[in-house]
Amino acid sequence: MSLPLTLAALRRSPFSEERLRSRRVKDEMRENLSARLRTNGDAPIFPGIVGYEDTVVPQIINAILSRHNFILLGLRGQAKSRILRALTTLLDPQMPYLAGCEIHDNPYAPICRRCRDELARLGDDARIAYLAPEDRYVEKLATPDVTIADLIGDIDPIKAARGGHELGSELTVHYGLLPRANRGIFAINELPDLAGKIQVGLFNIMQEGDVQIKGYPIRLPLDVALVFSANPEDYTARGKIITPLKDRVGSEIRTHYPSTVEEGIAITAQEAWTRRNGQHLHLPNYVQEVIERIAFVAREDKKIDKRSGVSQRLPISAMENVVSNAERRAIRNNEKLVVPRISDIYAALPAITGKLELEYEGEMKGADFVGRELIRAAIAKTYDEYFTGANVQQIVQWFDLGGEIQLADSVPAVEALENLKEIQGLIDKLGPLGVSQKESPEQQVSAAEFILEGLHAHKRIGRSEERVFKAGDKAPAPREREKSFEKEEPPYRQRRQFN
Ligand SMILES: [Zn+2]
Repeated sequence: MSLPLTLAALRRSPFSEERLRSRRVKDEMRENLSARLRTNGDAPIFPGIVGYEDTVVPQIINAILSRHNFILLGLRGQAKSRILRALTTLLDPQMPYLAGCEIHDNPYAPICRRCRDELARLGDDARIAYLAPEDRYVEKLATPDVTIADLIGDIDPIKAARGGHELGSELTVHYGLLPRANRGIFAINELPDLAGKIQVGLFNIMQEGDVQIKGYPIRLPLDVALVFSANPEDYTARGKIITPLKDRVGSEIRTHYPSTVEEGIAITAQEAWTRRNGQHLHLPNYVQEVIERIAFVAREDKKIDKRSGVSQRLPISAMENVVSNAERRAIRNNEKLVVPRISDIYAALPAITGKLELEYEGEMKGADFVGRELIRAAIAKTYDEYFTGANVQQIVQWFDLGGEIQLADSVPAVEALENLKEIQGLIDKLGPLGVSQKESPEQQVSAAEFILEGLHAHKRIGRSEERVFKAGDKAPAPREREKSFEKEEPPYRQRRQFN
């Protein structure tokens, strides 16, 4: 379909005056959302947003149906920006505006002086241009140095001199980000970081369409869907947000981290770059689970700052590094199959440590130490999922009797498997991991190493920095040995309070 290019043609098209004149951007989003709700059935409204189906998404839908400006409150790495960007899918595929207008004026109801003059001069011959949804989304990270000029605009004396206008005439305004988002979506991330004065300007424009620029009153009755994001503590802290602005935010919607390890795995699988050209990748479930649990354990850890949270980007970049380390081994050893091992997770520390905001105690111990502790705790929990109640005494005994084995992350699978077979009872125990002796050496080594790492995480056997597995430093007392790792964790303590 060819789009009408003059106002006359526009009037006769489906973009009629009757339909568009008073249709604001929030009406448009509401209409398109309603249509999607009617026809989509159970399909997700925002594709690619995992784990929010029953919590965040219904609240966003309600906010849009209510034509609210809204804010997403959540810690980092909770897909807030991604959700805000997905709102463009609720905009029309094409939006007509008066060609040449910096603020994309509605052809039937222009607010800028230039366009009103143009319409008076050209009438139905006025030219029409179109915007795609992506071009109607403006995003700004709030920082304390954002000015009114950035956000709303500035008086441009050169423009005034050239055009022979008075300063303060709206023809002399150099528009900022917000007017340029007119008839679109304007997203401000980390809203509380915006200076109070700027918040006032923002509020005035939302409320009345009035704003003062360098002392000159300018009227700009903009049509913008305003959406924000913020850290919940910053947003609720007294004095961070001016009350009238807070009052104009129709809905406050809380985001959250994935509530189950399975959900986390689904997000990480979607986001991490693991499908690479080259070797065939086999990613064992227990490796995915350990990587995901690092984030879960970290979110509960006292040594890590609760206020800033642990981003979902941690397991995502860790996964990418784990696959790379396994890939490196496969390339070096000329192996066809890439199978990540637990040692590859330790090798992925550089993708983990930078994403942890440490509390004092954590800082004292160092990010590397804390990272290793988290991995170890994640291994212990994952091991318990597969091997609670399994008899591994024979394996532990082999080490207690002086057995030692080095398992560097660079060792070729065939060679490592030969060594691992010397540990009596180990290779027979891979069943719960879905690995039999018919599987490739790469898979068997990865699974066997997971058992050894699990035993090490539970302090049943020892391991040196050179990755030599050996007997534990001192055999733990039997009572302590039975105590499962999980029981030391907070969820158990909480549950016990109710008993
Ligand atoms: Zn205009």
